[in-house]
Amino acid sequence: MPASKPLPPGSTIGILGGGQLGRMTALAAARLGYRCIVFAPDAHSIAADVAAGHVQGAYDDTDALARFAAQVDVITYEFENVPEAAVTECLRHRPVRPGVRPIHVAQHRLREKEFFRSLGIGTADYQPIRSDADVAAATALPGILKTCTEGYDGKGQARVSSRAELAAAWEKLERRECVLEALVDFQCEISVLVARSLDGTTRSFPIGLNHHRDGILRTTSVPSNLPAKILATAERFGLELANGLDLVGLVALEMFVARDGQVLANEMAPRPHNSGHWTIDACATSQFEQLVRAICGLPLGPVDVLAASRMENLIGDEAADWARYLGDPTARLHLYGKGTARPGRKMGHVTFVTPR
Ligand code: AMP
Repeated sequence: MPASKPLPPGSTIGILGGGQLGRMTALAAARLGYRCIVFAPDAHSIAADVAAGHVQGAYDDTDALARFAAQVDVITYEFENVPEAAVTECLRHRPVRPGVRPIHVAQHRLREKEFFRSLGIGTADYQPIRSDADVAAATALPGILKTCTEGYDGKGQARVSSRAELAAAWEKLERRECVLEALVDFQCEISVLVARSLDGTTRSFPIGLNHHRDGILRTTSVPSNLPAKILATAERFGLELANGLDLVGLVALEMFVARDGQVLANEMAPRPHNSGHWTIDACATSQFEQLVRAICGLPLGPVDVLAASRMENLIGDEAADWARYLGDPTARLHLYGKGTARPGRKMGHVTFVTPR
């Protein structure tokens, strides 16, 4: 089937990755009559638990990837650190949406920031840290030193307030390629989620107000009740990004709103995003359904807010409180079916809704 033709319900979607985002994508796809096959390295995954099938394989196992691709009509990924080579291999067999470029950019913090700037999307001051000379010349202080690759949820980061602290922190990060970002004195953190379909149509979800603790998202509230000017800038950045990446699918952009009202991009993820989970219970179309619509070439769904909502992540043993949420008429509980609750592990989320 030519890549540009819509894939009708009954088609099969391949998902690279077996986590909760893949799981919720498979659930949304099933509702629209699609089948999903999950590719993951483990014999058991929480996405495969709710999918029509799964292929177990390492991301560098080209035979396993080819077997997977042969069973599906289109492929997406549920985490941005999926190896680029795995996506390139899949592309030899089937369309991969959102594609290689979005992960190429998202997997490297410096590349990502340069890309933001090239699109006119504001960022905090930053500088590459690759040598002792870079450390000695650093001016983005106080700041946060972040590894360029493989950092997430606050991992691979250190706050530094002087060049001496920077030097020590860089040693601790094993002198890996890093970016030093000036610490933003922000009033709040927000995110925008934009879907872009096969024909280039874009649609932006209402912006969420996010609270993080220890580098991990704790809550998202919608509406954010921020001034229209800030929301318009954030939405414009999201649309510029989706178009700039020429992606088909979803992209989330996390941003800081500085005290002076400036909107500064922090990082992006070309996939469904934790800060978009509220859409399942409080938006006309969920982010997961929107992803399915986009990658299958269907019209994008409406994004009207149906209720004011606050999504809370259930991290570690917080999910043990499930009975309390089930007893609360305003709570919509989502558990991911993960076995062991470890500290910092996202076990589920609950969305509190107040119908308008
Ligand atoms: P990240 O891993 O880049 O998503 O960062 C995780 C969290 O750390 C962010 O959501 C912020 O709360 C905080 N953070 C990261 N970078 C900065 C910065 N440049 N200034 C202030 N806070 C930051």
